Formats: sequence, structure tokens, C-alpha cells
Amino acid sequence: MLHITDAFSRIGEENAFSVLARATELQRQGKDIINLGIGQPDFRTPENIVEAAIKALRDGHHGYTPATGILPLREAVAADLHKRFGVDVSPDLVMIVPGGKVTMFMAILMFGEPGAEILYPDPGFPIYRSMIEFTGAKAVPVPIREENGFAFSADETLALITPKTRLLIINSPANPTGGVTPKAEIDKLVKGLERFPDVAIMSDEIYAQMTYDGEQHQTLLAYPEIRHRLILLDGWSKTYAMTGWRMGYSVWPKPLYDAARKLAVNSFSCVNASAQYGGLEALTGPQDAVHAMVQEFDRRRKVVVEGLNKLPNVSAATPKGAFYAFPNISKTGWRAKPLASALLEEAGVATIGGPDFGVHGEGFIRLSYANSTENILRALERIEKFLNEHAQK
Ligand code: PLP
Repeated sequence: MLHITDAFSRIGEENAFSVLARATELQRQGKDIINLGIGQPDFRTPENIVEAAIKALRDGHHGYTPATGILPLREAVAADLHKRFGVDVSPDLVMIVPGGKVTMFMAILMFGEPGAEILYPDPGFPIYRSMIEFTGAKAVPVPIREENGFAFSADETLALITPKTRLLIINSPANPTGGVTPKAEIDKLVKGLERFPDVAIMSDEIYAQMTYDGEQHQTLLAYPEIRHRLILLDGWSKTYAMTGWRMGYSVWPKPLYDAARKLAVNSFSCVNASAQYGGLEALTGPQDAVHAMVQEFDRRRKVVVEGLNKLPNVSAATPKGAFYAFPNISKTGWRAKPLASALLEEAGVATIGGPDFGVHGEGFIRLSYANSTENILRALERIEKFLNEHAQK
């Protein structure tokens, strides 16, 4: 009898990957599936980035790098943050990690243990809760509300902090809702956090460059008063269509940096050397591909929102960021997960049920518009037909 630790009875996962597996299986059986499930850009990584990584391999970058990442890349991250937000970040506090997820993994491991509480957005990226529960800490959901434009509420967040709260996770622009929290609300949160000096903050800003309608991303790095307890999560996956490269970075407060470095040394050692050179080119090379991609997402966003709002008993808020729509389907009479499952099996459209992002996701499904306009229109037609034929009382 093997004795795996109890923690594994509490670990969760990301249902988007199960939906992807099922969609791929249905495709293998010859079914025509439109995948609006998975959250990854449908674009190729820009060619200059691919070439830089190939060149790195040809130039002999085959060995380990420092656990925290190569210095030119950490410098480029600091320069990029300065260029985008006017903030000063020391390259010594930047750490290159294999994907955005790794920063949350490390941060939650640092603060989670039985007796501790960690606040996380719900609906939100499912790994927050999974990892919090893995550590034995209490996962405390911060409800993200449709009536609030899927922004988080500073007051509601602050009211959930107790003496046991160790870490607060926030995410804007947000997955799965596309919500962007306005600057005024973030100002209010930061001000309120003065009352809780022992709470660390992890700000997941992986969709920072994907905002629309003139919405400006407000980075938490811009608040000097919390920098000593702020962990920034960002990476290349979404911005540069590099999900498979596994390239992310974090900015740590000085006292936590060494703990993060030790976690790296104890697990992945360093990020793939050639990928780091690709990441360097991504930050220092031309940014046209990023702008073109965001413009294309913006066009599709309008198509998807307009189409969703024409569906019977469906209403969709206009997402201000990321590449997801999160329509309210509660008036269809369907619960979200059975609907997502039926849409995949019977209508050939992969989506994700809102409850896969937390209890407050009931009544919603997530559609990723990282797919062609043509496919989005076909998917909307199929969903309409399905809803008309399967009206629930
Ligand atoms: N944070 C959020 C909010 C995400 O949506 C994702 C990916 O979907 C990640 C982090 C993880 O990104 P990566 O694929 O780089 O690990």
C-alpha cells in the first residue's frame, strides 16, 4: 500500500485541460468541434522570437542558467516594466519561472499552511484555490460580481481579511470574466490594506496588455507603499502567444526572493535556456505582433458579445480585458456545467462551465474568443440552435 500525503486529497486541477482532452477525443472520432474552451492565443509565436530561441541553441546555450534566470532577461523585464508603467524594478528582484503558474505555486506555498487563510477571486483561475487547499490553508473566496462589471470590490475584499489572513490574491484583467478593476477601486484597496500590514499581496497581471475600449491596466507595482509585500505575476504566455514555451516571471519583495530562488533550485533548477533567449527577443524586439493580436481580439470580442446577447435568455457583459466572455446563462434554465457539457457533446462547441472557476461562477459559462471570427460565428449559431431545441423549463 502506497502512502501518498493527505495534501493530494485536496489538490484540484484546471478543467480547461479536461475539456481540451475531451474536445480532442471527439475530433479524433471525426466530430467537428469548435474549441472556445482553452485559454490560449490561436496565433503562432512571432517569428523573431522563434528565431532567437533557435539561434540560442545554435550558439550553444545548452546548459543550466542561474536559477533566477539570465541577467539580460531579468534586466529586460525591469526595462519593460519601466517602459509600460514608469515603475522602477531592480533586476535582482525579478525571477524567471517556467510559466505564469509557477509564481502562484511559489507564493501560495510560502504563505499557506493549516491555520492560515488566503483570499482569492471567485470566479477566478482555478489553481489559486487548488494550491491554497493543497497547503492546508483555508481558501477564502472573494466574490467577483457581474453587477460590478466583474471588477473586484475593495470594500468586500477588505471585509474578508482576518488576523489569520496571510495572502491576498488579485487578478485584473481577469480570467474567466474579462473584468478589469478600475484604478479608483485599486487605490481604495491599497489604502485599506494599510490597516493590515501583515498581509502579502499577489497580483496576477498576466493579461495586463490585453485591455480594450481605452481601459488602462493599473499595475500594483505603482504603489510604493505595498512594494515590500507585493508579488507580481506576469509572463509571456498570453502576450506573445507563448503558452507552450513555459515562460513566466515574478517580481518579489526582497525578503521573499531568496525563498523563491530556493524553491527554483529544489524543483526546476532554471527555465529552459533557449526559451529565455526567445523571451529576451520578445521584450526587446518589435511589439507590432502584440498590438496586432490585441486588435484582432478586440474585433472578435465585439462579435462574440453581440452574438451572445442575441441568444435566447442569454446576456453577456462586455469584457474589458483578457480574451474571455462570461455570459450569464441562468435564465436559460440550464445549470452551467451540464450546459457546457451538452454544448460540447451535442453541439460541438467547447466552453467551460462557470463553476469550474468557483462557486460564484454558477449561472455563467466561459467562452474564449481566441479563435477565428468565422469559428466564433459558427459556434454562436450552433449554441443558438441548441438552446432553441433544448429550452429548459
Ligand atoms: N494566471 C491567469 C489568470 C491565467 O489565466 C493563466 C493561464 O490561463 C495563468 C496565470 C497561467 O499562465 P501560464 O500558462 O503562463 O502558466
